[in-house]
Amino acid sequence: SPTLVWIRRDLRLSDHAALTAAVQRGGPVIPVFLRDDLVDGLGAAPKWRLGLGLECFADALADKGSRLILRSGDARDVIPALAKEVGAGAVYWQRAYDPDSVERDTDVKAALTDAAVEAKSYVGHLMFEPWTVETGQGTFYKVYTPFWKSVRDRSVDAPLAAPSSLPATDTWPESEALEDWALGAAMDRGADVVRPFVQLGEQAAQSRLGAFMASKVADYVRTRDLPGIDGTSNLSENLALGEISPAQCWHAGQRAMQDGKAGAETFLKELVWREFAYHLMWHTPRILTDNWREEWQAFPWNEDERCAEVKAWKQGRTGIRFVDAAMREMYVTGRMHNRGRMIVASYLTKHLMCHWKIGLKWFEDCLIDWDPASNAMGWQWSAGSGPDATPYFRVFNPVTQLDKFDKDRGYVSRWLAEDYSAPHDDALSYYAAIPRSWSMSPDDAYPEPIVAPDVGRKRALSAYENRDF
Ligand code: FAD
Repeated sequence: SPTLVWIRRDLRLSDHAALTAAVQRGGPVIPVFLRDDLVDGLGAAPKWRLGLGLECFADALADKGSRLILRSGDARDVIPALAKEVGAGAVYWQRAYDPDSVERDTDVKAALTDAAVEAKSYVGHLMFEPWTVETGQGTFYKVYTPFWKSVRDRSVDAPLAAPSSLPATDTWPESEALEDWALGAAMDRGADVVRPFVQLGEQAAQSRLGAFMASKVADYVRTRDLPGIDGTSNLSENLALGEISPAQCWHAGQRAMQDGKAGAETFLKELVWREFAYHLMWHTPRILTDNWREEWQAFPWNEDERCAEVKAWKQGRTGIRFVDAAMREMYVTGRMHNRGRMIVASYLTKHLMCHWKIGLKWFEDCLIDWDPASNAMGWQWSAGSGPDATPYFRVFNPVTQLDKFDKDRGYVSRWLAEDYSAPHDDALSYYAAIPRSWSMSPDDAYPEPIVAPDVGRKRALSAYENRDF
């Protein structure tokens, strides 16, 4: 009988345990992707990027003589119904860890089991599943460094090769058309502005990993903090959709370490930050929606999403160069350098005293590498409300940070047009990308700070000192 492989955030053929198991089971393999509420609820940029990823993955399946079947609706109904329609004896997929997916997948598993269809899930999106890592006291980790120490020497299974062929079925079930889903509808700048910055699909992801290991990793410890230099792997975009697996990155990192490449261990540590984010989300799903440290509920956050400060922050015109450059980078490329993410998050939550949830939501709408766990952890880390967070009283100074991490202004000159007589093309493309209603022009004078660094810092610290917890 056929096996349905329910594709989710795993748009790849290699190191795909569910797909490999389906081939090994024998019989036709029918890959299916489902547009459910979780897909419909994605932000504009990640939803658009998912559409590109699906198109590319469908082509990769077609090259193997297979197809990607598209259906929409509630998985609890659609997956068992499709299994029945094609006479599938088994449905395989790779596990997700966010609370909504977990609840959905549990229900689907039960429905399939009731219908006497084998339902099996596999590991693939992570290396160290959240329930397999625990402290000596049998609890989960709340601090990164001990988490890292407890996993760094674990063996991670060698990545699986892509199946050499995917057994087709004689009669393919009907599929909806990807164009009809219009996943890019809310992303009007997608095709024209962001697309050139995207590296799409499994092959591109493997090339990125190869290029990183060949030339960037050796100096990664120094360059990863410099937003003006392309010193990081840029793999987050591909990891988010599973166009590459963390285990593939891990093994490449291990090999580089054995070859004595200096930055390799730091790269492995970064991959483990991603695992740690999932660990936290799994054990404390409230990290996605509420202050992880409950006492922060009492903090006087500004929650007015429409206030002038939030508007200026989103539009990259706070008058703070590091902040504005990073916000514009995200709008144009769908990504932001990690240093930029920390600076803009600190500025929003500390200098502007705005709730981190406002920033989390804007990132969710703009990032093509949006990842629920890493985004939530990053925001709560920056705001001081999360586990293992930077303390609230440690306020990044965005001006001195610029002197430290963008000494030659290579980064801000790439993204800010106002200061330069011959602006960089990327700085200009920002004006092509933004809605006309923002009424910004490269000929404008660079704005004065809406909140000066020292004023914002003092205000934040005084609110922190006077808090009632
Ligand atoms: P590299 O430096 O090459 O690192 C390799 C991989 O390690 C990354 O691809 C990523 O998967 C992982 N990684 C690196 N740093 C972190 C980190 N701090 N936390 C978790 N994983 C990490 N990352 C996302 O993937 N999606 C998000 O939505 C996201 N939102 C963030 C929001 C804030 C406020 C902050 C401070 C950080 C956020 N990050 C997020 C983490 C980090 O900024 C990005 O993972 C990183 O910039 C991606 O670039 P890269 O692939 O070149 O990373």
